[in-house]
Order: sequence, then structure tokens, then C-alpha cells
Amino acid sequence: MDLPSCEAEPRGDASQTLLALPDHLIGRMLDGVHQRQGGYRGRFAPSPTGPLHRGNLRTALLSWLDARLQAGSWLLRLDDLDVPRNKAGAAESIQADLRWLGLEWDGPVLYQSGRRGLYSTVLSVLRRGGLLYPCACSRRMLADISAPHGGLQVYPGFCRGLPRLWGPREGRLPSWRLQLGEGSLLWQERFARPGRVDGRSAVGDPVLRRADGLVAYHLATALDELLLGISDVVRGEDLWSSTAPQVAVMAALGQQPPRYGHVPLWRDGHGQRLSKRQGAEGVEGFRSRGLDGPAVVGELAASLGLVPAGSRLSARELLASVDLATLERSLRAAGAEGSGGGSPGPG
Ligand SMILES: [Zn+2]
Repeated sequence: MDLPSCEAEPRGDASQTLLALPDHLIGRMLDGVHQRQGGYRGRFAPSPTGPLHRGNLRTALLSWLDARLQAGSWLLRLDDLDVPRNKAGAAESIQADLRWLGLEWDGPVLYQSGRRGLYSTVLSVLRRGGLLYPCACSRRMLADISAPHGGLQVYPGFCRGLPRLWGPREGRLPSWRLQLGEGSLLWQERFARPGRVDGRSAVGDPVLRRADGLVAYHLATALDELLLGISDVVRGEDLWSSTAPQVAVMAALGQQPPRYGHVPLWRDGHGQRLSKRQGAEGVEGFRSRGLDGPAVVGELAASLGLVPAGSRLSARELLASVDLATLERSLRAAGAEGSGGGSPGPG
């Protein structure tokens, strides 16, 4: 089996982990590797927790533009595993909004909720391979310990060396964490700060199955990038800090990460990132201001200096008027001005 080598292997023999997968999953994993080698494959992966706002729409436009400028395909995946946060009708409104902007995707829409069996199988294999351990620490206990520092909270590995009790304790199931090895997690980063993070001191062993039994975001996302053969992830810079845990999952499966391009978030006049919760304007708002698709594409593209302010053009016309070098230059410049941080959002 000809698999890529990996620079950031957490521990153990990752190829053994891969071989422990059932045949159908090994086949799908290799299909993903071949698809990725065959050319650019990008994706947009929002969570259906509400309508897309202006910032999400701009990220979608950039991801689509990057893919199409490189004659690539562009997939739409709905990251809908966190069922309590899903909003009725959001999956449909996301698709309608992308179409309204002229951002057509390739193939069927993929729903993570329809792929739970895949994630569970991989979790079991990682667990049997000794790469996971149960963690009974509560969120509150960890918050109490790390409170004075704020910022990125790194799990210090309390439960790493304890006996592996997978059953409930005091009526509560443990979460399952991936044990990281020594050293840095690395990825190729196109627009934001370089992709190099020390696993143990800066990331901490990530939770792959939550205490409520739900598959964690990092596992599903990492596995889907591999199985779908994604070569390039273009998403909001708030997800930069989610990349290292996802790279660690890929490494545990003996796989290399895609290239990442984290793009600046749209901030309001006070430097705050837009949020769905605060009702940041989306397509409905644009329409009520009497704007049509070309006016909005122009506004989104002009916000990064890709076209002059006040431009009106369809997504296809934008594609014809911008080249890849210009897009990359503008995103690197905008990234250097902005700042990172924040909690994971749609992307
Ligand atoms: Zn713990």
C-alpha cells in the first residue's frame, strides 16, 4: 500500500491504525488519496445553525473562487452533527443563498449526520489501537484550573496515564481523547500564520467523542477531508486553531493533511467578528435593501479590494476578472492586517 508519510505522527504506528480499518474504509481512504492527487478539490462546510451572514458568504465566495481559479471542484458539506444547535430550515436556506450568489457546487450536498457510521467505526479502531483514552474531567473542573490564563485552554492530560475505564462513573460517561505525541503538528498554510503548533503544550489531547456520546467536530471534519479527497481547505481564520487537532487525527490515520488557507473574518466597525446570533446581515437583509446577486458579489469582492467599490458583477464575471495571484496577494495582505483567535464557527 503506497501511503504518504507523515511528519506529525501522534504515537504508535499509524499505518497499523489504517490497516485495522475495515476493508471498505481502507478503500475509501485510498480513493480520497487518489482524488486529492488528481487535482484541486475544495469544499464549503457550514453548520446549519442559522442563515449565512455576510462574513460566511464572503468566505464561501473566496473558497469557490479559489477552487474555480484552479479548475478544481468545490463540494458543499453540511456539518450538522451537533443536532441541538441545528436550526430548522437552515440547511435549505444555505443552499438557496449560495445559488442566489451564483456559487454552484459539484455533486450532491453531503450531510455529516448521514455519515455517523463511518465516524463510529474510525473511533472504535483508534480506541482498539490504544490511541484514545477516556477522560472524566468535567468542563467546570478544567475551567477552574485554567481560569487565570484565559485564551486558548490546553488540556494538561490529567487522565492520560490513568486506568482506562470506559464505562460511566458517577452516572456520567467519559469523553474520549486522542493521545498526542511529542513534537509539532504541521500543515501548509497559504494565507495566515504558519501552520506549526506544539501538540502537547499548545493544543492538548483533543476530544474525539464527547461525554454526551456525540462524535466531536474535529474527528468528523478530519475524516471527511480525507474521505472526500479534499486537497485545499479555505475557511475562516477562526478555525486556524482547530487545524492542529484535525491534523493530529489525520496523522493518527497515517494520512497527510490538505493545504489550508485561513481567510480573514469580516469584522464590524468595532473590530468584532460578525455572528449569526447578533443577527449580522445575510441574503434576506441584502434583498430588503433592494440588492441583487451581482450587487452583493461586488460588495463582498470589493471588501477585499478584488474589485473597485460599487462594482456589480456575477460570480462568473468575478472569476473571469481576477487571477489566482491577485486573490492570494489580497488574502495574505488582509490576513497580515487582521488578527486570529475566536471560537470555531462555520467553515
Ligand atoms: Zn481528564
